[in-house]
Amino acid sequence: MTDTVDCVVIGAGVVGLAIARACALQGWETVLVEAENAIGTGTSSRNSEVIHAGIYYPQGSLKARLCVQGKQRLYAYCDEKGVPYERCGKFIVATHEGQLDALRAIRAAAEANGVDDLRWLERGEAQARERALHCVAALESPSTGIVDSHGLMLALQGDFEAAGGMLAFCSPVTGGVTQAGQPILLKVGGEEPMELCARRVINSAGLYAQQVAASIDGIPVGSIAPGRYAKGNYYSLSGASPFSRLIYPIPEEGGLGVHLTIDLGHQARFGPDVEWIDTIDYTVDPSRSAKFYEAIRSYWPDLPDGALQPGYAGIRPKLAGASDFLIQDAREHGVRGLVNLYGIESPGLTASLAIAEEVVARLNGEAW
Ligand SMILES: Cc1cc2nc3c(=O)[nH]c(=O)nc-3n(C[C@H](O)[C@H](O)[C@H](O)COP(=O)(O)OP(=O)(O)OC[C@H]3O[C@@H](n4cnc5c(N)ncnc54)[C@H](O)[C@@H]3O)c2cc1C
Repeated sequence: MTDTVDCVVIGAGVVGLAIARACALQGWETVLVEAENAIGTGTSSRNSEVIHAGIYYPQGSLKARLCVQGKQRLYAYCDEKGVPYERCGKFIVATHEGQLDALRAIRAAAEANGVDDLRWLERGEAQARERALHCVAALESPSTGIVDSHGLMLALQGDFEAAGGMLAFCSPVTGGVTQAGQPILLKVGGEEPMELCARRVINSAGLYAQQVAASIDGIPVGSIAPGRYAKGNYYSLSGASPFSRLIYPIPEEGGLGVHLTIDLGHQARFGPDVEWIDTIDYTVDPSRSAKFYEAIRSYWPDLPDGALQPGYAGIRPKLAGASDFLIQDAREHGVRGLVNLYGIESPGLTASLAIAEEVVARLNGEAW
């Protein structure tokens, strides 16, 4: 006989973990199924670990709302659970006069999103605080920070399990079927294939969310948002970081520009750049370093030759023709109890706790 549970969450990245935790805390019997043998092996362990302030996103977008809410939730959650983080702040820099209008536009976008703590710094003040920096002006974001993303995921997993949730590793969802007025049936592969029925299913499979949706009969094919992959390569810096906070250039098409982030040990890394790809491949091509040197020297002219080493790469689950998160419930695809998450790229780590609240609110809004 097939077991029926209240809720199945597909994918144990930071977003799936946050959603599974929120569902379990609702008192729903929840199973979190993960294809790999550990949590967070996908995009959630291949990012910059930045707690974003909510600066860049269009007013009224899900990214704007969920990033600002998520940042507040995340700082509070890290305090409560002892997850390591640092509110190190960041500078967004204009490196020549021609970028000043873009910098002003960034400040206006931030204010429209309710981020009203940005400070405009003239060259002298910015360079007094970051001596290695070249710029003509900068915007300071004091609420930007960095977080131990693995520590965060472990805390979410701990809460989920303490609330009675069950986490199944090596359990890829391989198909399923929706049945009118009945729970959704999922086929789960792995060494011990099984079928599982759930009143609520949340597809949080990241780069594979479209593939998972397409494998479930009854989800209208036209509702599945086509995706694209934008790889982001990182280079690490040998030696000490010349900066004590994050340094971002003016954003570029598809990403935020090759910026400097520091980890909690204050090691510096640069990236991610934007490389459009067709297949998932995390190899960092060493020949991309020339473009990194050029981009970084626009704000750090003294970057020594030979200081950059190829690091790691992450892949952004982009949507074709759209730039916002897409959280789809029955109103869009017609399947009661199902939520599909598409395009959960940056700032998905920052927004994870707010995305979870949004998903639960939508499921609670459905009549049962
Ligand atoms: C280069 C880069 C830099 C970024 N930097 C930041 C940043 O600094 N700050 C920020 O806020 N955000 C950042 N992000 C975004 C953030 O990393 C993501 O939004 C977030 O990690 C997405 O989490 P997720 O759980 O949706 O996806 P994932 O972490 O990819 O998790 C999806 C999970 O689903 C599993 N899965 C896939 N298929 C199946 C299946 N069939 N059955 C079961 N399980 C399955 C996968 O194994 C995986 O574990 C960045 C992203 C990238 C690419």
